[in-house]
Amino acid sequence: MKKILIIGGGLAGLSSALFLSNDKYNVEILESSPKLGGRTYSFDYNGIKVDNGQHILMECYSNTLEYIDIIGSRELFEFQDSLSINYINDKRELLKFKIPKYLYPLNNLIGLMSFKVLKIKDRFAILKLFIKIKFVKTNSYEDKTVYQFLRMNNQSDAVIQKFWESLVVSTMNTSTKIASSKMFIDMMKIIFFTNKRSSNIVIPKVDLSSALINPAVEKLELNGVSISTSERVISIISNDEKVIEVETNKRKIKNFDILVSAIPQQNFRKIQFRNSNESLTFPKLEYAPIVTVHVWLSDNPLTEKMYNLIGSEFDWVFNNGTHLSFLKSNATKLVTLKKNEVVKIVFSELKKYFTILTNIVIEDYIVLKEKNATFIPDLGSLKERKSVPNLFSNLFFAGDWTNTKLPATIEGAVKSGKDVAQKIDLQNVY
Ligand SMILES: Cc1cc2nc3c(=O)[nH]c(=O)nc-3n(C[C@H](O)[C@H](O)[C@H](O)COP(=O)(O)OP(=O)(O)OC[C@H]3O[C@@H](n4cnc5c(N)ncnc54)[C@H](O)[C@@H]3O)c2cc1C
Repeated sequence: MKKILIIGGGLAGLSSALFLSNDKYNVEILESSPKLGGRTYSFDYNGIKVDNGQHILMECYSNTLEYIDIIGSRELFEFQDSLSINYINDKRELLKFKIPKYLYPLNNLIGLMSFKVLKIKDRFAILKLFIKIKFVKTNSYEDKTVYQFLRMNNQSDAVIQKFWESLVVSTMNTSTKIASSKMFIDMMKIIFFTNKRSSNIVIPKVDLSSALINPAVEKLELNGVSISTSERVISIISNDEKVIEVETNKRKIKNFDILVSAIPQQNFRKIQFRNSNESLTFPKLEYAPIVTVHVWLSDNPLTEKMYNLIGSEFDWVFNNGTHLSFLKSNATKLVTLKKNEVVKIVFSELKKYFTILTNIVIEDYIVLKEKNATFIPDLGSLKERKSVPNLFSNLFFAGDWTNTKLPATIEGAVKSGKDVAQKIDLQNVY
């Protein structure tokens, strides 16, 4: 039986292990941190589980849904019947964007036409572009940002600001002026034109670790996968053809046939590579921050599960019952502020957007700043992601940064793991 060593116990590593743990392979995972899940994790806070950042999934996450089915956690997710988003403005007006359940794919257009945040003229402009996106060939837009693509297609600055900017920042963690239009159009096709359910939002009903990580670990252990935490890989030794030894902070490992690196590229760069005559060229990707603030109020004024805050310092607020979670993607400004300054903004936004009784106070809060939350899917990233090194026949790379053609997401991480498993199976390297 071939022995496969996987570095990294984030979603990409767990997914690689899950799709590889069968009769043909003996799999071991090495994770440097004491916990599994990487950037998708939850921690204990005063006896309740809190996520490192509110995560949203979509029903077009086909690889993730397959992963969820394998680990048996589908019932821990809430699936929308059809895409529905509550927008709220600073006049406290609730404006729904709802795509009807039936008449796919026309339902997308019907939903857009009844979206009251926009003027009728603007809705028509967006509608025309939606139809174009369904049919357009994306390769012709490799050198254009989303902003350039939108302007070329008659989207006014006002429409970009009111509609597209929020969509792009929420899904790509960067602005329209930086995001690659090719990746954006590909993603829009997947979300809106795969099937009638693909645009539905999927939210974990429980904390992220309970929904995505712990059941995977249980399944892997049942399949005989061994998982070592608090074990950091520090160097990799190769001969001219293959990787032959992995050194961790605890031991030297030689008894493996295949090595899968499922760690971010900037972490891989820190691993010493010894004996190889080759120099590793790695994609050069920039990263963008996400700020999440969990707040516990003396009374919860929110009635819906989630709201998009139009024109706010935060993009979204999620109603998690016991606490609210404010989320800001591409949070270049918030990430520089002190935690108490961030919380002041949260409270002032709460008062602006919701009717808050005067006696409601913030009882507790946590500000989580993920400085390198996701890589920036800019124009350069398209080329850079194609340059993942392919030096040794027994070394494979997984991770949301590899060339999945998706932005850095749960789906990208899970897909990368499944892709590696398929490559190993197909190439049958030994
Ligand atoms: C705040 C936040 C919000 C997000 N929101 C969303 C969302 O709403 N929807 C969505 O789809 N995605 C979202 N994402 C993105 C998603 O979380 C990531 O794309 C995904 O988790 C990346 O998984 P990964 O396995 O590729 O990498 P990671 O999760 O980074 O896993 C890599 C693992 O490798 C380990 N490691 C590193 N170096 C070594 C070493 N030398 N030896 C051993 N182990 C090592 C790390 O400790 C880590 O556990 C969000 C991310 C953040 C941070």
